[in-house]
Amino acid sequence: MNRFSYIQSNTVAEALDEVVPNDGSKFIAGGTNLIDLMRANVERPAHIIDITHLDLHTIKEMEDGGLQLGALVKNADTAYNEKVQSRYPLLAKAILAGASPQLRNMATDGGNLLQRTRCYYFYDSATPCNKRSPGEGCSAIEGYNRIHAIFGTSDHCIATHPSDMCVALAALSAKVHVTNKEGKREIPFSEFHRLPGDTPHIDSNLKPGELITAIELPVNNFHRHYQYIKVRDRRSYAFALVSVAAALELENNVIKSARIALGGVAHKPWRNLEAESFLSGKPTDESVFKIVADMILKDAKGFKYNSFKIELAKRTIVRALTEAKNRTASEPLDCYTYNRHEKT
Ligand code: SF4
Repeated sequence: MNRFSYIQSNTVAEALDEVVPNDGSKFIAGGTNLIDLMRANVERPAHIIDITHLDLHTIKEMEDGGLQLGALVKNADTAYNEKVQSRYPLLAKAILAGASPQLRNMATDGGNLLQRTRCYYFYDSATPCNKRSPGEGCSAIEGYNRIHAIFGTSDHCIATHPSDMCVALAALSAKVHVTNKEGKREIPFSEFHRLPGDTPHIDSNLKPGELITAIELPVNNFHRHYQYIKVRDRRSYAFALVSVAAALELENNVIKSARIALGGVAHKPWRNLEAESFLSGKPTDESVFKIVADMILKDAKGFKYNSFKIELAKRTIVRALTEAKNRTASEPLDCYTYNRHEKT
């Protein structure tokens, strides 16, 4: 671990004032990914700004009926919040499918968006990696790429984004509120994360020194028919090989609107608007869901060890849509990691 300076800020303005452009300043909150990356010598910040005391810890009602998650709300507190569970159960379920109780108690909602890929080579400084050291090359393209992307890859990087929470936020068309010294702005969730292109070391469209302050959940009607399915090698504490967030708004078994986002398949949560709009006005038949799965996967490209993800994703989409359709309003949140008192 490199030497760094550390300061604690008490307000957003103080935190922004501490950022020195291009000096490797990093904000820290839960630290559940940053500390690991510093121990592995992947992140080497010169200056760490502790933001845990900023006033960003609440979940607020919005005037239009949506919810606003403060950036420092813990993942566990978000998942167990009654308003989130009743109005955005897809999000609660996705969060509870991620990490472990210890990590969910520590990790923040803002930090969840900024966690970095779990590509093995990214963490191994003995191997070339364009994301860690631009220009070095990518060890995964010709290497062991079982967990890697099948959409949106480039010749420079084929890593995936690791978050479950972000897959649900993409499906729910969330917005990310950010602030910098010049002012505030909102970023639609679909534009927050980037594809690798020829700059795989840049994961998001946050500007240097910009701080996430909140995540906005717009009003929707997807709280009855939803499902989040995460397929992984172990039943807990493992990242997704493929995950699917599906939500349907139904009227007499006809689909009024639909949302589908995939995780574990690209450098960002993967949404296909063409497939979603195809579902509008269609019956909730398995044959329709299979057409949509084929539509979503038609441009997927596998590598030596991960081509299995293409068929796996198709089957997971069909299952998620079928289970979303069959869910009844009275069903409880059915995550196997569900535990109201998630203490360690
Ligand atoms: Fe690095 Fe991306 Fe290649 Fe993994 S896939 S080795 S993160 S450049």
